[in-house]
Amino acid sequence: MQKGNINVQTEDIFPIIKKFLYTDNEIFLRELVSNAVDATQKLKTLSSLGKVKDELGDLKIEVILDKKKKTLTIKDKGIGMTVDEVDKYINQIAFSSAEDFVKKFKGKEADAKELIGHFGLGFYSSFMVSDKVEILTKTYKKGGKTKAVKWECDGSSEYTITEIDKTDRGTEVVLHISKESKEFLEENRILELLKKYCKFLPVEIAFGTEKISEKIEGEKDKDGNDKYREVEKVRIINNVNPAWKIKPTELKDEDYKNFYRELYPYTFEEPMFQIHLNVDYPFNLTGILYFPKIKKNIEVQKNKIQLYCNQVFVTDSVEGIVPDFLTLLHGVIDSPDIPLNVSRSALQSDSNVKKISNHIMKKVADKLENMFKNKREDFEAKWDDIRIFIQYGMISESKFYDRAIKFFLFKNLDGKYFTIEEYEKHIKDNQTDKDKKIVHLYTNNIDDQHNYIETAKEKNYDVLIMDGPIDNHFINMLEQKFTKYSFARVDADVIDKLIKKEDAQPSKLSDDEQKSLKEIIEKVIDKKKFNVVVESLSETEQPMIITKPEFMRRMKEMSEISGGMGYMGMMPDNLNLVVNANHSIIYDIFKEEDEKKQTNLIEQLVDLALLSQNLLKGEKLTNFIKRSVNIIK
Ligand code: ADP
Repeated sequence: MQKGNINVQTEDIFPIIKKFLYTDNEIFLRELVSNAVDATQKLKTLSSLGKVKDELGDLKIEVILDKKKKTLTIKDKGIGMTVDEVDKYINQIAFSSAEDFVKKFKGKEADAKELIGHFGLGFYSSFMVSDKVEILTKTYKKGGKTKAVKWECDGSSEYTITEIDKTDRGTEVVLHISKESKEFLEENRILELLKKYCKFLPVEIAFGTEKISEKIEGEKDKDGNDKYREVEKVRIINNVNPAWKIKPTELKDEDYKNFYRELYPYTFEEPMFQIHLNVDYPFNLTGILYFPKIKKNIEVQKNKIQLYCNQVFVTDSVEGIVPDFLTLLHGVIDSPDIPLNVSRSALQSDSNVKKISNHIMKKVADKLENMFKNKREDFEAKWDDIRIFIQYGMISESKFYDRAIKFFLFKNLDGKYFTIEEYEKHIKDNQTDKDKKIVHLYTNNIDDQHNYIETAKEKNYDVLIMDGPIDNHFINMLEQKFTKYSFARVDADVIDKLIKKEDAQPSKLSDDEQKSLKEIIEKVIDKKKFNVVVESLSETEQPMIITKPEFMRRMKEMSEISGGMGYMGMMPDNLNLVVNANHSIIYDIFKEEDEKKQTNLIEQLVDLALLSQNLLKGEKLTNFIKRSVNIIK
C-alpha cells in the first residue's frame, strides 16, 4: 500500500469545493458519468486504431445504487488507469487546476457551478456528496505496471493507493454518500438526474431495472388478441444517437417530430417545422431548432432550448447566449466551442458565442426566406403562428430586420396576406393624397371596432388585422423605418380625416352655428372626459362618434404593456366626441327649443357613441337603458 499527500498547496480545497458548490451539488453525477463516457470513447478510438488487444465487449456504463451500504457506484469498461496514471491524473493534475479554480473564484459562488466540470475538477465534485470516495481501476494496457489499483480518500488531503485483484478492464468510482446528501441514495432522485444530464450521452448508461410489457410470440388469448407478459429489463437511460447527430438527409419529418417528443415529453403541441444546424468551420455546432406555434403569452414559451456540450446536458437557459427572440424557439444546440468555463457576462462578449449567435440567426432567416420564396402558400398557412417571433426579431435585431422585412406579411380582414411592398401597391390607389403619408388602417379587435370597420369598408378602404401583443411597438418601428407610412386604428378619427379626400362635405351649419352647437353640447357632457369636435361629415355617417387619437392611445397601451403604470399609463383615455354637423338629428337638436328635450337627445346620442366603443358601463348603462325605454314608450 502506498500512502501520500495529495499534491496541493491550497489546503482548504475540500471545504471550498463543498461550500461553493453546495447549492448545485447534483452535478457530481454528470461529471462522473461524463468521465466514464470519455474513458469509453477513448477506448473505442484506440481500438479503431488497432491499439487495444482485447475484445471490447459490452461497453455499457452502469450506475449502481446500494442503499444498505450507502454507496453509489459509477462503473465503466473504458480505458482504466495504471497506478502512475492515477497518481498523475487524480493526485496531481486535478488538484493543480483545483488551485487555479480556488484562486480565481473565491467569493464568486454564482459562477462556480458552471466552472467545476471544466477545470479538471470534475472528479472532485464527488466530495460534495461523499464522506469517502474509492476508485477501483484497471487499465486496458498490458505488461509492465498495469495491475489494478484502488485509490481511496476521505476528503482530507491524504489518500491511499493499494493494488487489488480486479480482472475486468475499466474504472469503478464508489461514493460513500454522506448523511447530508442522503437524497442521492434515492432511486428516483438518481433517475431524475440521469434523465436530466445524461439523456443523450453517446454510450449506454444502465441504471436499475424496469418492467416492460412484452408480446409473447405465438400465443393468443381466446379472442385472438396478442398476449403480453411483464418482464423486468435493465433500464437504459439514454438515446445514444440523438437526431441532431444524424445526417439531415437520413431523417424524415416524422423523425424530427419524434425527437421533439423525446425532448419535451410533457408538451402536446407539435412543432411546425425545424432547422437542422450542422457547422464545422469556423466553429463546431450541431443542433435542431424547432419553431413552435407561438402563443400570445410569449414568456411561457421562452427558454426551452437545451444546450449540450458533446451530448452532455449543460443548461436549458440560453439567455444571453443567443439573441432574446431566438429563445422562443425550442430544441437543442450542441457545441464544444461554447466556453462553458466562464460566467454568463463573459459568454455574452465571447467572440465564438457571437459567431454562433449570428450563424443561428442567419440560418433562421434563410429558412424563413426559403419557405416564403418557394412555398408561399405553406408559409402563409403558418404565418399567424410565427408572426410574433418574427416581429420580436425585427424589433430587437437589426440584422434580422434587414432579412425579414422582405418576407414579413400583413394580413387584412379578408384573410389575405401581403408583403409590405405588396400592400403599399394594394392600398395606394385608394388614397388621394399620394404625396403625403400612406395611411394603413388597422383594427386590433374586430368585435369592439366593428362599427368603425364597417365605415371604412363602406368607403372601400382596406383594414389590416394588427392584434398581436407587440403590434404597437412594431407599428412604431415601421413608421420610423418607412417615413412615408402612417398607421391608424380604425377608430383613431373619423374616416374622412384618417384618409383625406379632396371632396370635403359642404356644411349645413355656418361656422358661428357650429361654434354654438359645440357650446350646447359641452354644457351637457362631462368636459373633462371628451374633447368635442364639430365636423361636417356625410349625412349617412353616425350623428356622434367617439374616436381615440392614435398617438396617445398607442403610447398609453405601450406603457401599460411594459408593466409599470408609468406617466402615460396613468393618463385618462383621450377621447374625442365628433359631432356630425350634417346629420339631420344634430340639426334638429341644434334647432330644438325645449331645453330638456335637447339635453335628453344629446345624452342619448353620446351614450350610443360610447356604446359602439364598448365604453358604456355601470350606472351610465342603466340610465341609458331607462332613457331608451322612455323614448320608445
Ligand atoms: P477532467 O475530466 O475535466 O479532465 P476530472 O477531475 O474529472 O477532470 O478527471 C481527471 C482525469 O482523471 C481525467 O482527465 C482522466 O484522465 C482521469 N479519469 C477520471 N475518471 C476516469 C475514468 N472513469 N476512467 C479513466 N480515467 C479517468
